[in-house]
Amino acid sequence: MNLQETIAELTPSLLEMRRDFHRHPELGFQEVRTSARLAEFLEGLGLEVTRGVAQTGVVARLKGARPGKTVLVRADIDALPIQEESGVPYSSQTPGVMHACGHDGHAAIAAHVAAVLARYRDRLEGEVRFAFQPAEEIVSGARPMVEAGVLEGVDCVVGLHLYSLMPAGKVGVRPGPSMAAADAFTIHLRGRGAHAAMPHEGVDTVLMASQIVVALQSLVSRETDPVATAVITIATVSAGEGAHNIIPETAELKGTLRTFDAGLREKLIRRIGELSKGIAQAMGGSAEVTWLPGSPAVVNDPQMVERFRQVARQVVGEEAVLEVPPVMGGDDMSEFLNRRPGVYFWLGAGDPDPRKNRPHHHPAFWIDDERSLPLGTELMTRAVLDFLR
Ligand SMILES: [Zn+2]
Ligand SMILES: [Zn+2]
Repeated sequence: MNLQETIAELTPSLLEMRRDFHRHPELGFQEVRTSARLAEFLEGLGLEVTRGVAQTGVVARLKGARPGKTVLVRADIDALPIQEESGVPYSSQTPGVMHACGHDGHAAIAAHVAAVLARYRDRLEGEVRFAFQPAEEIVSGARPMVEAGVLEGVDCVVGLHLYSLMPAGKVGVRPGPSMAAADAFTIHLRGRGAHAAMPHEGVDTVLMASQIVVALQSLVSRETDPVATAVITIATVSAGEGAHNIIPETAELKGTLRTFDAGLREKLIRRIGELSKGIAQAMGGSAEVTWLPGSPAVVNDPQMVERFRQVARQVVGEEAVLEVPPVMGGDDMSEFLNRRPGVYFWLGAGDPDPRKNRPHHHPAFWIDDERSLPLGTELMTRAVLDFLR
């Protein structure tokens, strides 16, 4: 098969689809239009399509003529609550909502990988399954997709994330931990309110909160292996109603925990609770810690990374395949990679001049879709064919 010719032929459709999604961005679990368009496109290719998976997700199965392995391609499809200021002619038509992370490109690439492979179905061994996942930005879409059974019978998983700060033409990947686990917590403190001039009559939650903020840092400096990585940040401290002379009865701390190692993550989640409760209790009060559901760290399978690298070198050349450092940002692709071996790679999508590029989640976020999307389609298609072998 001549893959490059096929992709060249499909490129106008690829770009049109990405720009259409860009014009009509939808927030997590509201991706109704996006999902409908994807489902219609995939049905048109003759794939077996299931709509409404994890509310607004779409799953499509391309079964080859002969039996074999099953490879899952995962693409997230949601946008962000940002007012677009990129100035592109296909800018968002929805006020306050923008594809500022490139998920419009992810969806269009995965759909066109399906379009390419559908043409070679007679020669395909095994199944290629496509998971169009809602609500990545609120770390909520992957888990219900997994619970809906999207990984049943799947041997391995592959996904990509466009990267505006890496020039188009380059590819980044690393074996092992690549993106951090991100967990958010709230510590609710209770003491006893009192007159500020009579502290012995009360239990001071402001002092309690202060002790806890300081003590939490010792979990990183004293209880975490210095060569491991963890971040604990308290981002919000609230207590009192603005008075100078009242000891507040309650206080609240909000923070985030970032880790790569699953064991360390578990330990720190436990220790944040123990430390907060212990300090509060020792001071005569009490603490309750609540956690928002987070996603585990994104961990790539080393063998699959090696195979992917070989594929990528053939497509973009040896020197354009970079080993990138891990990032403390999170991505719920980890829900798939936690359960199946796989690879999540960065696809360069920026300008060679770094001054022209904006980071992800920026109102002027921009990607060179003409250069990066066809390349992403080729890379993903070749990776899938390699993994099916
Ligand atoms: Zn994002
Ligand atoms: Zn993203």
